[in-house]
Amino acid sequence: MHELSLAHGIVEQSLATAERLRAARVVAVQLRVGRLAGVEAGALLFSYDIASQGTALEGSRLDIIEVPLVVWCAHCLKEVELPGIQRLRCPTCDTLCGEIRHGRELEIASLEIEESDG
Ligand SMILES: [Zn+2]
Repeated sequence: MHELSLAHGIVEQSLATAERLRAARVVAVQLRVGRLAGVEAGALLFSYDIASQGTALEGSRLDIIEVPLVVWCAHCLKEVELPGIQRLRCPTCDTLCGEIRHGRELEIASLEIEESDG
């Protein structure tokens, strides 16, 4: 289950950021996950609970923000959103679009924290 190693990475990165921000507590972690990132949200949430146990992130929430698959159409000269990778063609002009602009993201967007006093 590669979600568990992903979750450990997210926890480590969040803890480092929380420390830098001198956060008293992390309330939630917002994670951007692209459609092509190959992550199963349910498994990741479950893994996050395990990975955060015993850390400052224990009991915090993991918010998964889904990022759609967006490709560049060289014919329409614009970014277009596609339902999946099965058909990488522009829905407007049917041109093959090989340039993926969004959809592979797996990154922490922001942290919701409680600041410590003083
Ligand atoms: Zn097009």
